[in-house]
Amino acid sequence: MALSKLDNLYRQVILEHGQHPRHYGELNNKTNEIEMFNPTCGDEITLQVKIVDQKIQDIKFQGQGCTISKASASMMAEELVGKDIKTCQVAAQAFSKLVMGEEITDSEDELLGDAVVLAGVQQFPARIKCATLAWKGLAQVLAKVGEKNE
Ligand code: ZN
Repeated sequence: MALSKLDNLYRQVILEHGQHPRHYGELNNKTNEIEMFNPTCGDEITLQVKIVDQKIQDIKFQGQGCTISKASASMMAEELVGKDIKTCQVAAQAFSKLVMGEEITDSEDELLGDAVVLAGVQQFPARIKCATLAWKGLAQVLAKVGEKNE
């Protein structure tokens, strides 16, 4: 399994999130919902978000997918709940740079929190879409919310 090439500590964090994802389930009072599908791996994620006053009050996700897709959604929710839309957009962009192997700044690194452990997927191009699935879904939700407010 390709994951075994990842640094051991990082691998454990990813496996732990994949097996016990945070923010998994149904969100009451959601304001937005998006379904995301990654055909190359078969990952399916439904992301439910509650956004009030330009801030993400809560995120939950459901679906079936590989460990990386679930761990990534779990870490994303953990890091971004409570943050404002602009900050979350910056984080989503930073995350996609990270997994593509591009440099990110210290402040971006801090924003991503535990999710930086997913940087290792850059060695496995087929898994990059697994890692970015939830983040792309959130970015689409945020773009829509932003449009409405303009
Ligand atoms: Zn996957």
